[in-house]
Amino acid sequence: METSENCSVKVALHIRPLIADERQQGCRECVSVTPAKPQVQIGSHFFTFDHVYGNGGSPLADMFEECIAPLVDGLFQGYNATVLAYGQTGSGKTYTMGTGYSDNCQTQAGLIPKVMNALFSKVETLKHQTEFQLHVSYIEILKEEVRDLLDSVSNSKLESANGNSGKATVPGRTPIQIRETSSGVITLAGSTEVAVSTLQEMSTCLEQGSLSRATGSTNMNNQSSRSHAIFTITLEQMRKLHSISPDNDSSDEDMGEEYLSAKLHLVDLAGSERAKRTGSDGVRLKEGIHINKGLLALGNVISALGDEKKRKEGMHVPYRDSKLTRLLQDSLGGNSKTVMIACISSADINAEESLNTLKYANRAR
Ligand code: ADP
Ligand code: MG
Repeated sequence: METSENCSVKVALHIRPLIADERQQGCRECVSVTPAKPQVQIGSHFFTFDHVYGNGGSPLADMFEECIAPLVDGLFQGYNATVLAYGQTGSGKTYTMGTGYSDNCQTQAGLIPKVMNALFSKVETLKHQTEFQLHVSYIEILKEEVRDLLDSVSNSKLESANGNSGKATVPGRTPIQIRETSSGVITLAGSTEVAVSTLQEMSTCLEQGSLSRATGSTNMNNQSSRSHAIFTITLEQMRKLHSISPDNDSSDEDMGEEYLSAKLHLVDLAGSERAKRTGSDGVRLKEGIHINKGLLALGNVISALGDEKKRKEGMHVPYRDSKLTRLLQDSLGGNSKTVMIACISSADINAEESLNTLKYANRAR
């Protein structure tokens, strides 16, 4: 088996326990974790991942320490990174990421709040020597269209700063274009980039954007399960370089500045369930197909990246096949670090979708 130490994609499995509703229905657990191994069994199938988190201990704290904290450290060294939560609707993606402000989830326990805490405490310890600038953007991709989730946040900020609104667009409906600069940096033209200087400001962006995502739908049909939500933190650093002159001249020689910029994408993916299960009316089927386009392209990109041999042969990585993979292009592969968190329910009624998720995640290794 190939070890993933030098591979840029790590896969962690997060198994959620039965929820009250499932217990009432008489569901049983159908997933078992092999003791002392990152391995699970479902029916006659066995799967091994980089990490497996069940319900013992504090899975989210462990997941953060083992999988995510290294990405935060990498940001300070200038490395882009992506965290992806994959799984069927109800498997715990939003719970894991900590973006569920609308449904009373325990959001503080989620990974994004943990990332923000770690980030700001690191900035605090380094700020005497380095100047930091932090920006966040928060968008969702639905039916291959990119929607800004922070429109209202930036407008209200601008209003309080200038006494008027900076944009004349309908909140949440600004068309956003994914562009690539000549040096291969992907940008989101037209999306709101909020400058944040405190943990509180960043938390507000996460909260407002998550609420906007949940309420953006005109009907009660859970739209958020069909869109990909991408919370992006950009960290810029400016450090003055000095050298002490060897002769007795007491003044430090100004060696210019070192500039680093890196971003971390935290992605709550659309539900991975099949279109056929979301209903058979034409409209929703189309959305189902679009969602599959993103998830399908992501699966292909990640499996191409994980395949050392194909990579060496200069194999084409199909980033352009969907908006999702296009947007993540400069943060998947190359020097970037990627963590995919496959979320599954342990309930027997979800066994078929859980097995699909395990197979998808297995391709990423
Ligand atoms: P998804 O975003 O994948 O649709 P959610 O994160 O909304 O799923 O989770 C579905 C339900 O399961 C929510 O009520 C959530 O609180 C609960 N849940 C998810 N993961 C866990 C977990 N690890 N432990 C306890 N409850 C969980
Ligand atoms: Mg969700």
